[in-house]
Amino acid sequence: MSETVKQALRNIHAAAEEINRPVRLMEVCGTHTMAAFRTGLRALLPDTVTLLSGPGCPVCVTPNAYIDHAVALSLRSDTVVATFGDMVRVPGTERSLEYARAQGGSVVAVYSPLEALRMAQQEPQKQIVFLGVGFETTVPAVAWTLREAHRSGVENYSVLCAHKLIPPAMDTLLRSQAHIDGFICPGHVSVIIGEQAYTPLCQQHYVPCVITGFEAIDMMQGILLLLRQLIEERAEVENQYSRTVTPQGNAVAQELIDQVYTPCDAQWRGLGIIPASGLAVREPYYADAAKLALEEDLPQPRENPLCRCGDVLRGIISPPACPLFATACSPLNPIGPCMVSSEGTCAAYYRYAR
Ligand code: SF4
Repeated sequence: MSETVKQALRNIHAAAEEINRPVRLMEVCGTHTMAAFRTGLRALLPDTVTLLSGPGCPVCVTPNAYIDHAVALSLRSDTVVATFGDMVRVPGTERSLEYARAQGGSVVAVYSPLEALRMAQQEPQKQIVFLGVGFETTVPAVAWTLREAHRSGVENYSVLCAHKLIPPAMDTLLRSQAHIDGFICPGHVSVIIGEQAYTPLCQQHYVPCVITGFEAIDMMQGILLLLRQLIEERAEVENQYSRTVTPQGNAVAQELIDQVYTPCDAQWRGLGIIPASGLAVREPYYADAAKLALEEDLPQPRENPLCRCGDVLRGIISPPACPLFATACSPLNPIGPCMVSSEGTCAAYYRYAR
């Protein structure tokens, strides 16, 4: 362990001692959750400092109804569903996309929405529907493909849109029963939306927000900044990740998002419907294939009543408190999305903290 890391840990322990009460900090982003486990950071923190995992895994917060739509689309003879790989195993009400594929459904894992657009250009007789799941980080690349499809007259490419925005979810959490003393804000999302996006949260809820990178030392410095704000009774946005995140964010990406999408209410697993927390595709970019999902005879969305993903995503419980954790539910046999995704909290606990 380097002297810099040792000193950061000593500073964290000293600050926690000065605060002298339990402190609950939420890392919003699933990548931070994984980093905190992988580097052993959790085990090195003072007993009074708890890291909570938040709703920052896009696969985990996508509700069953969306998976059901995607499954129904994949079973249409004229349609191919293209998606990032981690969506394929997420259980829907009756089946996952993986199961649908085994039943003859057309489901293709892609590494980028551009790959899906290319597929549409190569197979004009098929409707290619890309699953638009992800936060502000993912949205610009998807927006670009929709604009490009429109510009070049590709009519068989569309996006089944479930994109979500992080600040409204943080606001909802602060209004709920989850006790949160400070946020470790997501580094990747912040590259797009900038530091200033969190200022209203600090002002309205008087909660400290610190944007951090993903190395262990980044997270330690972020935690220390949060603890110092608590000691000094401040609630501000601080940016530990200034090597990447600017105050205003990426203006080009923001403009592209505004051009292609409009804010809408969105359903989050565990958090319910959050006003203006989603993005809907604007005309003329909204091609017809995604609308077809709405015409399907879909099952009434239903989740396993024992799965506690909603409580995990709100920071109310940690995964071992779920009765299915590491028994009925495991990465090989996931019951809920938090066990499927590589950024899922249950998957992280299963891998590092059993
Ligand atoms: S352990 Fe499985 S069933 Fe329990 S909350 Fe996590 S994903 Fe859901």
